[in-house]
Amino acid sequence: MSSIAGSVTITPKGFAWHRRGHLWIYRDDLADADQTLAGEIVEVYDLQRHRLGIAFFNPRSKIALRMIATDGAVPDATFWRARLADAIERRRPLADRTNGMRLVSSEADLCPGLIVDRYNDVLVIQTLCLGIDRIKSFIIESLVELVKPRCIVVRNDASVRAFEGLDPVKQVPYGEQPDHVEIHEGDVRLLVDVWDGQKTGLYLDQRDNRLAAAQYASGEVLDCFAYQGGFALHAARRAARVTALESSGPALQMLRANVALNRLENITPEEANAFDTLKVYEQRDRRFQMVILDPPAFAKAKGDIADAARGYGQLNTRALRILEPGGYLVTCSCSHNLSEEKFLQILQRAASEAQRQVRIIEHRLQPPDHPILLSTPETHYLKCFVLQAI
Ligand code: SAH
Repeated sequence: MSSIAGSVTITPKGFAWHRRGHLWIYRDDLADADQTLAGEIVEVYDLQRHRLGIAFFNPRSKIALRMIATDGAVPDATFWRARLADAIERRRPLADRTNGMRLVSSEADLCPGLIVDRYNDVLVIQTLCLGIDRIKSFIIESLVELVKPRCIVVRNDASVRAFEGLDPVKQVPYGEQPDHVEIHEGDVRLLVDVWDGQKTGLYLDQRDNRLAAAQYASGEVLDCFAYQGGFALHAARRAARVTALESSGPALQMLRANVALNRLENITPEEANAFDTLKVYEQRDRRFQMVILDPPAFAKAKGDIADAARGYGQLNTRALRILEPGGYLVTCSCSHNLSEEKFLQILQRAASEAQRQVRIIEHRLQPPDHPILLSTPETHYLKCFVLQAI
């Protein structure tokens, strides 16, 4: 099991980040760095030799230190098991509405780089930084003890691992590789492809926004980035008809399976590019009582913000133009590089372009199983507004 392997000293700039409580110290803010300690847990010191805590160290990554604890804690088996048990316990209130949830959300649960998602009796994990990847076997053992799952799937095919020098890999270290797993989200049943689905199978972070959006659904609804039908399935229980646009063939196949599983007959899946289809609907005067926009992250890097803003602007303008008077726009951005303030500015501009008065009905963010750490703004990425166009 991991123990402290050495020490690293940080510059005054690094210390300023640390003082604010931020859990990351960048490579540029290290005063010394012993390369042989890569992947180890190290003690962190300032230039005056004050001990600041312990962190995962990877000098190859831009995020060289990820703080684990700032007290005298020893990162042994008991320490990690307690961290996991705490995170799992915090999710208990969610059990009323679903059996699909994020049990461990990386930095926000003080387990840097570790994602653990639960889909019914299956766990899917990701180890996204070198330090946590090194103790993966122990994490798996502890999860077996704490959760008693049927199997554990490792979905380490996330591209961010490359920044840490880690290769993509998928494995089933415990139990048998599962077929599609069924979960429920409120009254909706969802099939999850934990092996080939996007992320770890599902966009768990949108659960509460899907449930909230459905309350406003009526008449004709358009779900523009439907994936496997998350928003569409909830909305279809209240709407007359839901048109679900999705560009990925495999996602649409799962969407159709989900529609059948829920015995719904009022969802029309369409393989389409949402940007183009919105334009066509506008030209053809097709109108909706609700439009849902949950696109992929357009601003993957800071340099993408200008292009991303154009993309979000175009989508939201087009969506507002095809809303009936009094219709609802549920609009989201999962780009952490795009602040909420900036997203709101984009929405204001879109309303003005579309010549609509728009009121904010709900201002939402990530659900409680994807908590936000105030000190570490990177943990806040999901923005969601329920708007009404007058
Ligand atoms: N709303 C979904 C998650 C959406 S993720 C849910 O709650 O589960 C974004 C989805 O948009 C992905 O499935 C991706 O395949 C799809 N997508 C990406 N670009 C697209 C485009 N131009 N038109 C339609 N769908 C697109």
